[in-house]
Amino acid sequence: MKITAIREAAIPLKSTLRNAAFDFSEMTTSVVTVVTDVVREGRPVAGFAFNSTGRYACGAQMRERFIPRILKAEPDSLLNAAGDNLEPEKILACMMSREKPGGHTERSVAIGTIEVAVWDAVAKIAGKPLHRVLAERYNGGKPVAKVPCYVGGGWYEPGKGVKDLQDEIREKLDQGYTTMKIKVGGASIPQDLRRIEAALRVVKSSERLAVDANAAFDRARALAYAKALAPYELRWLEEPCDPLDFALLTDVARDYPAPLATGENLFSTQDVQNLVSYGGLRADRDILQMDVPQSYGIVQFARTVAMLEGRGWKRNSIFPHGGNQMTLAIVGGFGLGGCEAYPGVFGPFAGFADDAKIEDGFIGLPDRPGIGFEGQGGLFEIMRCLADGA
Ligand code: MG
Repeated sequence: MKITAIREAAIPLKSTLRNAAFDFSEMTTSVVTVVTDVVREGRPVAGFAFNSTGRYACGAQMRERFIPRILKAEPDSLLNAAGDNLEPEKILACMMSREKPGGHTERSVAIGTIEVAVWDAVAKIAGKPLHRVLAERYNGGKPVAKVPCYVGGGWYEPGKGVKDLQDEIREKLDQGYTTMKIKVGGASIPQDLRRIEAALRVVKSSERLAVDANAAFDRARALAYAKALAPYELRWLEEPCDPLDFALLTDVARDYPAPLATGENLFSTQDVQNLVSYGGLRADRDILQMDVPQSYGIVQFARTVAMLEGRGWKRNSIFPHGGNQMTLAIVGGFGLGGCEAYPGVFGPFAGFADDAKIEDGFIGLPDRPGIGFEGQGGLFEIMRCLADGA
């Protein structure tokens, strides 16, 4: 058993959206396929992944270092003890060989994306959905049929007013979602408060509305928003400042008793450990949102979870960034708090399987081998072409 090819391609997201910090007009993502010599239903098994949303494609590092390292390794050195499947832990170690400690972002997205594609192949070779493989390895085999899922939306768009925002939220509630997250910080505080109050009139409960500032605030603005938003007691306030500005985050937490959320822009276990040690966060209410394919992948995420549990954090405080099927499998497999969805945005990279069921704020887990990209028409076409080398 061996990996016969690893291919990657950069694909543009082609989005007109904007948050408080930047627009998505140039955004790309890397799609990866890991092809094996295992044959199922007449075709070689191929694992797929993409590098989630919000970080640009990273093919150069993959082509120059990580793909050649895996393909040069002795194939048996990348297998599990039984020799009947790939071992992601060994493949991660192989990609990390001759890498200097620290400087995580330069490589964590490239490595994590390949690593998650390896897991897709592992689950397909085992003939099981990835969430089940992960539950067996990392969550005592607990079967989960559905997980909480909220909508990340409420972006700023040219010409979009408060009524358009309400229509956007109503449409998501009609689709079966119950909880919405909207952007803040791309307007003035009074304008954003009007947007929040309009959104609350639609979702009808502060528990069902979160806001995301995308780490755009300086000290004065972060503290001003914390004071202005605190009385609303929203589900959470996301990224009020740079996630590594622990001093400011501590001051925001002091002024903001309701839950804070952060972590999607941290890329290593060490950064997350520093965050929960020195960032003023509170394990009894705050939310952590690491993006797994962007931060070295699933094996490293399991180490992060173990570190967090050792410091009193519960798995239901973790809502990983990335409204996609990779995150869905990870949330179900590890038994995390819930996952995000971006229905209708980011083109083929948004959302879940075409037959995914959203009901009362929960999404059903897919019953296909692997991550389940085969059930997501538009995206799978891109992946299949890549696997076939077309
Ligand atoms: Mg965010």
